[in-house]
Amino acid sequence: MKFSPTVLTPEEEQLRAEVRQFLAEELPPGYRPGLGIGAGSDRKFSKKLAARGWLGMAVPKEYGGQDRTAVDRFIVTEELLSSGAQFGSHFVADRQTAPTIMKFGTEEQRRYFIPKITAGELAFSLGMSEPDAGSDLSSVRTAGTKVEGGWLLNGTKVWTSGAHENDYFAVLCRTSPLDGDRHNGLSQLIVDLRSDGITINPIPFLDGGHHFNEVVLEGVFVPDDRVLGELGSGWMQVTSELAYERSGPDRFMSTFGLLKCFIAERDPASLSTEQQRVVGQITARYWTIRQLSLSIARTIDDGGAPAVESALVKDIGTRFEQQMIEWIRDVVEIDLDPQQGSMFELLLAEATLSGPSFTLRGGTTEVLRSVASKGLAR
Ligand SMILES: Cc1cc2nc3c(=O)[nH]c(=O)nc-3n(C[C@H](O)[C@H](O)[C@H](O)COP(=O)(O)OP(=O)(O)OC[C@H]3O[C@@H](n4cnc5c(N)ncnc54)[C@H](O)[C@@H]3O)c2cc1C
Repeated sequence: MKFSPTVLTPEEEQLRAEVRQFLAEELPPGYRPGLGIGAGSDRKFSKKLAARGWLGMAVPKEYGGQDRTAVDRFIVTEELLSSGAQFGSHFVADRQTAPTIMKFGTEEQRRYFIPKITAGELAFSLGMSEPDAGSDLSSVRTAGTKVEGGWLLNGTKVWTSGAHENDYFAVLCRTSPLDGDRHNGLSQLIVDLRSDGITINPIPFLDGGHHFNEVVLEGVFVPDDRVLGELGSGWMQVTSELAYERSGPDRFMSTFGLLKCFIAERDPASLSTEQQRVVGQITARYWTIRQLSLSIARTIDDGGAPAVESALVKDIGTRFEQQMIEWIRDVVEIDLDPQQGSMFELLLAEATLSGPSFTLRGGTTEVLRSVASKGLAR
């Protein structure tokens, strides 16, 4: 395991300044910030970011990307999270679907999907979890049956974030019968969410909001050219894909807006000793976790594959973004009401309701520790 200290270059600081300037102009004063990747989706906003060249930062120019770096992408993401902008429309595709298609997809898939993703025109969901397959993903039961020219898909996916708004999802399914090793015989298919045979049912969130869905697939036809990667290599592809989603600022900055509003709504001279301690404690941890996450982005740019480090940053980062809600709640005296209050109070109520999900999405804490311990034992 290795975390090499790194700092931003003057060019990278310049990029940060440009993104910050853009956000200051785009988001009006008094804008109600969202919390992390749950802040919401705004396709027009994603397209504006794309027009500035801030999507597909690490994708080759030939496919509509920017040929820039993971660190540049880190900087853009950090600024979006810090402002609480609604960037959910492009985020999943930008973070993991585009790199997965680049790595495993056919040339036709790269040319068809990636320029549309980097333009902010196509939004993707993730079709992994099922009612009886979350942590134990290899036990998915959604099955593809071979037919003339493609596959017929049957099964049910759950917790599919954004399926009601997005265009496609990458479905992990079984394409050949169990042969003793559950990791064999799984494949990924790129499925149009508006295909015949798909029913999308909302699963209401604790606060009543609509983020996730149950997606029922009944005889959905998927053409052969939408098989992503090798048939039967789905497990290897999915585990590699999950590594992309683990270590970025979205795994420790979901509640950054809460800290900002807490400070903004108070006269610094009026903070109690306890409140000052909590602000200091949160800031110090942010800074440390950020350095770990930045170091991973730099390692990726240097050609490394820091899977263990990524799992650990997600474990530390998501527990931190969850804990800080409690630390703040402990030093304020308010009755939480998601419907009314100051910006800080509304965010605190929202964070209290959504916080428990931070350590579940993208792999639970227990699963990440298992990934890290297996990696360290090798
Ligand atoms: C906000 C949010 C968004 C999500 N979006 C998506 C999405 O878009 N697409 C998608 O496919 N999924 C999505 N998910 C699902 C998510 O990936 C799963 O919830 C997660 O993988 C856990 O699976 P599970 O809910 O089935 O829990 P389970 O796997 O049943 O786990 C229950 C508990 O048991 C523990 N546990 C399980 N196995 C072990 C083990 N071997 N050792 C120790 N402890 C264990 C877990 O840590 C957990 O605490 C989302 C989840 C959330 C919360």
